[in-house]
Amino acid sequence: MDNSHALQELWKPTCFTDELSNICKPETRFNLGTWITDWTTRTRDQTNKLLKNSFKLSIMKHKGHISLLRPTTTKHDVPVLFQEPHVETGFRHPHQPWFYYICSIFQKHNECMNVWTHLIGLLLTVSRTIEFSNEYDLIGNPHMWPLSAGLITMILMYLCSTCAHCFSHKSELVHYTGFMIDYAGIGIFGLGSTIIHYAYCIHDTMLNSSLKMLSVPIGVILGALVCICCTVSKVFYKRPYPFTRKIWQIGSVGGIYTWLSLPILHRLFLDKDGEDVSLYHHTSQMIWFALAGFFFGSDIPQRFFPGKFDFVGHSHQIFHICIILVTQKQLDGVHLDIEKYHRTPAFVDEPSFMETFGAVISLTIVCFLNVFIFHNVVKYRLGKENVKQE
Ligand SMILES: [Zn+2]
Repeated sequence: MDNSHALQELWKPTCFTDELSNICKPETRFNLGTWITDWTTRTRDQTNKLLKNSFKLSIMKHKGHISLLRPTTTKHDVPVLFQEPHVETGFRHPHQPWFYYICSIFQKHNECMNVWTHLIGLLLTVSRTIEFSNEYDLIGNPHMWPLSAGLITMILMYLCSTCAHCFSHKSELVHYTGFMIDYAGIGIFGLGSTIIHYAYCIHDTMLNSSLKMLSVPIGVILGALVCICCTVSKVFYKRPYPFTRKIWQIGSVGGIYTWLSLPILHRLFLDKDGEDVSLYHHTSQMIWFALAGFFFGSDIPQRFFPGKFDFVGHSHQIFHICIILVTQKQLDGVHLDIEKYHRTPAFVDEPSFMETFGAVISLTIVCFLNVFIFHNVVKYRLGKENVKQE
């Protein structure tokens, strides 16, 4: 409703018949009493109209604020890309302001727990980093650079995952780009774990091996492959996803995980009498990782009870919790290994910048380029699809 129109109506003069006889009816002769009554009635009506419009406007503004936490919707109201198998409800509305998705962290929806679980993982890692920094000189001592680089990659992984899930329903382009960043985070964390394990968790007999020498360059290549392969699996496959898509993901993640686990597996093989205490934590980490893989790929429990685990208990949330336990147990094991590291032959050689921070920076650049290229591929493709639909 237009307020300026209502104001014009209010101040419109009443009809003076002698001057405007061509538009007024002949019987409406000027009479002061009638004019005043008419004017009063007009004024009252127009004022009411104005007040009504102002009230409507203020309600609309108020509703604008409320819409930041508007109720979620069902899978039928969102693009197919956002729909998850066996999830029926709790979808946030697409094409809302960025602030809507940030506020939605405090709302009940089907990505809410995914955001919170990795936000908690992020806070736990920051807390562990502070604990380590109280104990060791993480920047000044080059022997601690592998740990610092590894902790940075862990923080990056949680940050990328939290952002991807937080903004996943904004638009199709943001959804694709967000998960490309999430995969970049996984690849970079894979490299971080490789750096940590080959620096502190390696058995003395493996110190001069070619595996140790090639650990970081191969870690960079495998980390880049995680980012590229998972992005390909996201961009070039459409729902319902075929099993081949899982091979792209499991193959690349499995590749770097096997590589970063070799020093631990070697020690497990050598430790016949179970005296190595830190191996207890490393083994737990591996069990949690296997469970994470199981829940990631199985769609259990929601596949048996569709729509019942939309908010809490979905397999992806369990997968996130398993990943938190993987990182916590990994840090417990690494902490014990660092205690021993100062007394081992490995302590003689100082890790270089390129073997630690330099490698992480290099892989981050590669991942950034991957995201940049595929972001533009998706943007171009979505643009073409929109033109076709129009
Ligand atoms: Zn996730």
